[in-house]
Amino acid sequence: DEKIRIGVAGYGNLGRGVEMAIARNPDMQLVGVFSRRDPASIELLTQAVPVHKFDDIEQFRDQIDVLILCGGSKNDLPEQGPALATLFNTIDSFDTHNKIPEYFAAMDSASCVGERTSIISVGWDPGVFSLNRLFGEAILPEGETYTFWGKGLSQGHSDAIRRVPGVKAGVQYTIPSAEAMELVRSGSQPQLSTREKHTRECHVVLEAGADAKAVEHAIVSMPDYFADYDTTVHFISEEELRSNHSAMPHGGFVIRSGQTGDGSKQVIEYSLKLGSNPEFTAAVLVAYARAAFRLHKKGVHGAHSVLDIAPGLLSPKSPAQLRKELL
Ligand code: NDP
Repeated sequence: DEKIRIGVAGYGNLGRGVEMAIARNPDMQLVGVFSRRDPASIELLTQAVPVHKFDDIEQFRDQIDVLILCGGSKNDLPEQGPALATLFNTIDSFDTHNKIPEYFAAMDSASCVGERTSIISVGWDPGVFSLNRLFGEAILPEGETYTFWGKGLSQGHSDAIRRVPGVKAGVQYTIPSAEAMELVRSGSQPQLSTREKHTRECHVVLEAGADAKAVEHAIVSMPDYFADYDTTVHFISEEELRSNHSAMPHGGFVIRSGQTGDGSKQVIEYSLKLGSNPEFTAAVLVAYARAAFRLHKKGVHGAHSVLDIAPGLLSPKSPAQLRKELL
């Protein structure tokens, strides 16, 4: 069989993750990476494929089966997504939850115009967590769904603490409350406030001469980011930050607690413990690239989300093999 030819648009954490994930999927082949930066300045991790200028991407229309969009959700994807979806079958990890409906509409019309197939908002949340919320609701229509995140490094909250005057560097971890999770797992379906579900832990390197008390206050009282949570701030050295906090772990739990029949309690739990958030997200993107390739081959065009994709399409195995091995 011919390999599925993959292109990567944007080479950050996710782009590197996709490059590595393709190396573990023998039915796929990376054919090129595209970047807005000078291609000569970019060194790929594992594969000897060329880096091209982003602006030249259209020339590769016939050489790429699926283009995996690895740009940021905030500024890159709203612009790059619809422009590329007319030219290529695409996968992306758009994660600005409240803007998904308008992003989907833009991707759908672009993909339809180009007779291409796109799958948006692929990853873990949105992504496999969304699927698990769907299973929970559909199977247990009466009940509550709970999502807990962490322990994990939050990029947005880490950026927010770095903007506080007096902070030289820092990271933020989101931690699910053990008590809240225990209550949820018991099947009691508690109502939980934002503060009760998660705590936030910051590890901060101060600028020389900065006032630690003032920095701590500025962080814990920051609206939207920290004010609604119990936040602890630890001051550490640059050395400690480098050696203990440079990985990007994350994960979390989706729990559906419901009842059936005369009130039998039923609890469904799905969890992820991720050593590297971008590497895992990339692994999900690559599996969905296989699905986009197959759908396009069948003549299915337009945008989809993970909720629209049959799970068998993600696997390199045939439907018959899957029935034999997994049912
Ligand atoms: P990065 O900031 O690492 O990369 C985003 C883009 O920035 C790249 O495509 C690249 O574009 C550019 N870039 C990367 N490094 C540099 C650099 N050193 N200097 C200048 N530009 C650079 O973001 P991530 O890869 O970590 O994440 C991408 C998106 O993935 C996030 O915005 C998030 O929304 C989403 N995500 C979704 C998840 C989910 O579960 N759905 C989970 C995790 C992330 P170029 O090469 O063109 O310069």
